[in-house]
Amino acid sequence: MRVALLSDVHANLTALDAVLAALPAVDEMWVMGDTVGYGPDPSEVIARLHEKGAHLVAGNHDRAVATGEGLELFNEVAAEAALLHRSWLSADELAVLAALPLTLSREDVTFFHGSLRQPLWEYIFDAPAAAATLSISPTSCCICGHTHAPALFRLVGGITQARAIRARESYDLASSSGKLLINPGSVGQPRDRDPRASWALLDTRTGVTFERTAYDVAATQRRMRARHLPDFLVERLAIGL
Ligand code: ZN
Repeated sequence: MRVALLSDVHANLTALDAVLAALPAVDEMWVMGDTVGYGPDPSEVIARLHEKGAHLVAGNHDRAVATGEGLELFNEVAAEAALLHRSWLSADELAVLAALPLTLSREDVTFFHGSLRQPLWEYIFDAPAAAATLSISPTSCCICGHTHAPALFRLVGGITQARAIRARESYDLASSSGKLLINPGSVGQPRDRDPRASWALLDTRTGVTFERTAYDVAATQRRMRARHLPDFLVERLAIGL
């Protein structure tokens, strides 16, 4: 099965549409959470992903926008954006977000937003955190988001290694090479100093390829200003941080 891995779209419809235009034919689309929060177009992004038949899990922003849960843990600008989104979305859209599952499994893959220990909140930035999730995973492959930076961790013989990620490079998925944790990075708000949308293409029989897609950042920024989102959130898109 060929799968598009998208995460942390963060209501950035321009970035999402650029990625969808760049996608080859895939069997499924999996979204690792934070579909809303930060960006200008939460409603349109929810609709677009629904129209594409995407399988979504919940992120901390999705939950905060839907129910207010965890808002007190957000910094000021994130909370301001979440409250704006909450006021823009319909009751039906909020109900859809509130009902998103914390984890989903398809074939031999489990996906979630943060980690298996704390699906909404834990950041997997390093090998020890990756090992904690991989060691309790029922499947040999896991996919997460949340950090907004593409990453690949491999657990072989009790040792977890982080692999350096290069765009357009493929990494094999053979079961003999141990358990694997993939983070495709963020479509709508990358934070690895590359403003292009980050995503990945998974072939469940062979491997994963990380991709970057340029989009019209200025167009998203104009929409954000028009909708009175905080300046800090507008400006960070241009530098990818
Ligand atoms: Zn996020």
